[in-house]
Amino acid sequence: MTVENKNIEKNKYITVIPVLGDNYTYLYRYDEDKAFVVDPGELDCVNDELIEKALELTHIFITHHHFDHIGGVEELKREYDCEVIGGYGKGAGVDRLVKDKEVVEIGDIKVHAIATPGHTKTSMCYYAVDKDKNGAVFTGDTLFHGGCGKVFECYPETMWESLQKLILLPEDTMVCPGHDYTEEDYEFALTILESDRIVEESLEMYRTQGKLYRSTIGWEKISNIFLKAKDAEEFAELRKKKDVF
Ligand SMILES: [Zn+2]
Repeated sequence: MTVENKNIEKNKYITVIPVLGDNYTYLYRYDEDKAFVVDPGELDCVNDELIEKALELTHIFITHHHFDHIGGVEELKREYDCEVIGGYGKGAGVDRLVKDKEVVEIGDIKVHAIATPGHTKTSMCYYAVDKDKNGAVFTGDTLFHGGCGKVFECYPETMWESLQKLILLPEDTMVCPGHDYTEEDYEFALTILESDRIVEESLEMYRTQGKLYRSTIGWEKISNIFLKAKDAEEFAELRKKKDVF
């Protein structure tokens, strides 16, 4: 197997902040003293990190409107006067509405908005790439490590199409999901696949590394059961099974 899964040192400017039990907020330091965050589910953990690192918050990206992803937005905005970017419409805390393929430039970082309807109709993922081509994708509740989000507002086929967009990203892109459901997702996969060396290895790594576990698009392509589905129909079947797992 040519794809390696390892903690990605080159993305060390990204800090993973576990919030609200199983959510993840991401802090991306793009300049000596400046940062943006993705999906600040609450204020305190995020603000503590900004203060500790002496960073000014300039932008907030939101993947979708669910409260556990936006809980800290209002207060952070008051605190830092930052710009809030999202795909679900102006108002509701969003200053700048982005559409599919729109690129937001922040310092040397290009952040590509990728419309990924499925979990919600207006879910967005963000692919951030620096000038050295180090990439990370913030996937909200669309793609998880070993899993994918529940399909609430769309048909499963729509979610499937959104996931197909994400797997076109470069293989070494770091995957930054909105939740840590990793263990459950790999356990679910093993009930379907029974035995799969890559999934077993992923579960083992997760159990060792916990919230430090990282993955890439390349690794997800071979270890994520929802991405291994051969078509939208098989995907929909899997999603249905996972919903009652
Ligand atoms: Zn959600």
